[in-house]
Amino acid sequence: MKRIILKKGEEERILRGHPWVYGNEVERILEGKGDAADAAELVAGELADVESVGRRYLGRALVNPASKILARLVGPSKEGVDVGFFKRRIRRAVERRLALGMDPRAVSCRLVFAEADFLPGLVIDCFAGWSFDDVQRAALPRPLDCSALEGALGPPEKVLSVQILTFAMEARIPLILQAMNETLPRFLGADAPPAVIEKVSRIMREKEKIPEREALRQGAIPPNGLVIFENGLPFVVDLEGGQKTGHYLDQRENRLFARRFAGKRTLDAFCYSGGFAIHAARGGAEETLAVDSSKSALDLVEKNALLNNVQDRIKTIQADVFDLLTGYERAKERFDAIILDPPSFASSMANLESAAAGYKEINLKALKMLNEGGVLITCSCSRAMTEARFKRMILEAAHDAERRLIQTDFRPQAGDHPILLGYDESFYLKCGVYTAV
Ligand code: SAH
Repeated sequence: MKRIILKKGEEERILRGHPWVYGNEVERILEGKGDAADAAELVAGELADVESVGRRYLGRALVNPASKILARLVGPSKEGVDVGFFKRRIRRAVERRLALGMDPRAVSCRLVFAEADFLPGLVIDCFAGWSFDDVQRAALPRPLDCSALEGALGPPEKVLSVQILTFAMEARIPLILQAMNETLPRFLGADAPPAVIEKVSRIMREKEKIPEREALRQGAIPPNGLVIFENGLPFVVDLEGGQKTGHYLDQRENRLFARRFAGKRTLDAFCYSGGFAIHAARGGAEETLAVDSSKSALDLVEKNALLNNVQDRIKTIQADVFDLLTGYERAKERFDAIILDPPSFASSMANLESAAAGYKEINLKALKMLNEGGVLITCSCSRAMTEARFKRMILEAAHDAERRLIQTDFRPQAGDHPILLGYDESFYLKCGVYTAV
């Protein structure tokens, strides 16, 4: 086993829980035991031991010399990365969801969240639902009710939506699939391995220099999506064409704010499939505008509106949110609730300040458009945007908009996307709820 020896002091961050080693933090690489002076070359995907310059053992890591992140720790001990390793890690990750009260037999949730579940570069979401085509054929009344659907079609089927984000995971796909197939059926209440679809992240494949290939598939994937229930409301998940893994499960709990606080007239900006908009409409909002630049996202909103029987109260608008808000400001449009859930504007610390300006622009405009007592639900899913920087941005926007804000709540992503202490990147989603007075 090769050994990665860190430069003096670089072990501190790792000892506090951060699982990455950057290339420029490495003093030298040794071939094996002892102090052999010959520097070894690391091979993409291999396992290596990580040590401080003072010989303190820090853990075992999967490496990729082609990536800025040279090594990602998988644990503090000398554990091999074989099928047994994947089975243990997956089982423990699922047990943590069960401890949170999320039972994947019934609830769609993230089963494995990469580094935060000690499986760097591997994401597994599990969707529990019914094929959209079967749901349509069942012709049940709208809003669609979960128990009525279960009565008509039986228990939900499960589809695993997987992302492979590192070269080392890519090299171990057969082991991962075997571990999933041997571990997950009993947690999912299934007799056989569940269906699997891989959602490719182009950005990560590029960063990790992973060659192009066909996406993974196992079993039958419902061609027109799966209808899941979130907080009791039906949503169609576009498994084939949808963004990320098909549905932003991380906002599950935050969407409840839209249900509770949505006012008469609500704006859901960056709506994707309408997660917030549908909650708002079902919560009683008389008119909800759902805005996204993607036509296919808005097609999903329309389907979801029908499933929820709120099609008369939701209007979809294909637009760039920045342009739309500028126009609305001029036209003196007013709302009782506004949701801002943009994509990550900051890809790294390097462009954080320009990203912060983008966040401030939309928050400022939104605040100006809120009626007295109106609610702003504002999010950032950018890892680089810290809670403190995000709150400062909101404060500056409130100052410029001459609004006083009461912070009603401030929350991270849902608990099935765990936050690993010492690894701030895992606390990526911030959702603030503010009442404008
Ligand atoms: N709120 C959604 C998730 C939003 S993800 C939910 O609850 O599921 C961000 C969305 O913003 C994506 O759907 C993307 O298509 C859209 N988007 C990105 N840039 C945009 C822009 N400038 N204007 C409008 N929509 C944009």
